[in-house]
Amino acid sequence: MNDLLRQHHAEECVGCGRCTYACVAAQRHETFSPRRVVEDALAGKETAGAGGLWACTACGGCTMVCNAGVEFPSLVRDLRKRSRIASVPTAAHHGILNRAARLTASGLRPRSAGWVTPDLEIDPRSDVLLFVGCTPYIDATLRYIRDDLLEIPRSAVRLLNAMGIRPRVLTSERCCGHDAYWAGDDELFEKLARANLEEMKAMGIRRIVAFCPECLSAWRYLYPRALGETGIEARSVIELVAEAVRNGEIRLRPGGEVLTYQDPCRMSKGAGLVEEPREIIRAVGGLVDMPRSGAMSACCGTAGWLNCDHTAKRVQVERLEEAGSTGADMLLTACPKCLVHLSCADRHHGAELPRRVRIEDLHVRAANALVR
Ligand code: SF4
Ligand code: SF4
Ligand code: SF4
Repeated sequence: MNDLLRQHHAEECVGCGRCTYACVAAQRHETFSPRRVVEDALAGKETAGAGGLWACTACGGCTMVCNAGVEFPSLVRDLRKRSRIASVPTAAHHGILNRAARLTASGLRPRSAGWVTPDLEIDPRSDVLLFVGCTPYIDATLRYIRDDLLEIPRSAVRLLNAMGIRPRVLTSERCCGHDAYWAGDDELFEKLARANLEEMKAMGIRRIVAFCPECLSAWRYLYPRALGETGIEARSVIELVAEAVRNGEIRLRPGGEVLTYQDPCRMSKGAGLVEEPREIIRAVGGLVDMPRSGAMSACCGTAGWLNCDHTAKRVQVERLEEAGSTGADMLLTACPKCLVHLSCADRHHGAELPRRVRIEDLHVRAANALVR
């Protein structure tokens, strides 16, 4: 335990409570506070607040404001790893999406490349692979919330094609393991990471391109940390598009809409991609940011398909209210999960909002604006 506390700088905590003030989970649960979790851990209370450990979305908001440098998301992940036997989280959607990760780790994989349409330029010999991750699984499970999720990989390919990249795609996807990692399930995470890496190496892939910030985070940060240098570069579609727009390699048609943006945690806080999505948004419309934006953006309220309850909904509805109050016509995000969670809140509570905004994915919006 002492090693764990040292490793994540928990011993530096000065008990200021800034983390709790910034925490989306503390807003949800009166009994949850990152400061208390740190204090309990320092007091050697291993199981104290263990149920509460699962309230954390690992968004990283607390770390952004902690002057003592406490790395709370990593600390909570390791505490989860220790407490998994004593406490398990409640999975949303009867755990079907969590089971998809386990199934793909065991070798079972669906034929999921049905999303590829004839207009997409795919090269089966390319050393650049568009990693689609679990989006086809989310589509199959939650189509009643969003029936257009597969437009995201299609739009990603259209954007890559416009940049002159003809990516390879897999005929069947395996989960990246991101959620298993943050749930403290190292065995499952490492199994998925190894299988994905071995497959890419066997295929001669040198660059992974991801539209999902969690896949990006897995390939860019988590795999090298767990397995050592992978030899595979991981890029976000968004950063490639922003570079291409900046360099004049592709042109996006400006529209008259006012757009606001939900920064996905793994993209803004995790990969530091705050300006890149905004460069794209400014190219296609007018940008008006919400008060909580950029690296200090609020999490969409649910992570890892765990513990989705009325408190998560409250966070999401507040976020939709915040988006509506900007006067924007559309709320964009660049994460399939943020898109689904916010659309879910809108579906169930949109009619109660003072002002409703359309919710759309940034890759889709950008691809629709391509000047060919
Ligand atoms: S912000 Fe940092 S120093 Fe302050 S209570 Fe939280 S973890 Fe401790
Ligand atoms: S990572 Fe996010 S949800 Fe977890 S304690 Fe920090 S601010 Fe709260
Ligand atoms: S917000 Fe909706 S889509 Fe997301 S986990 Fe909860 S119920 Fe499922």
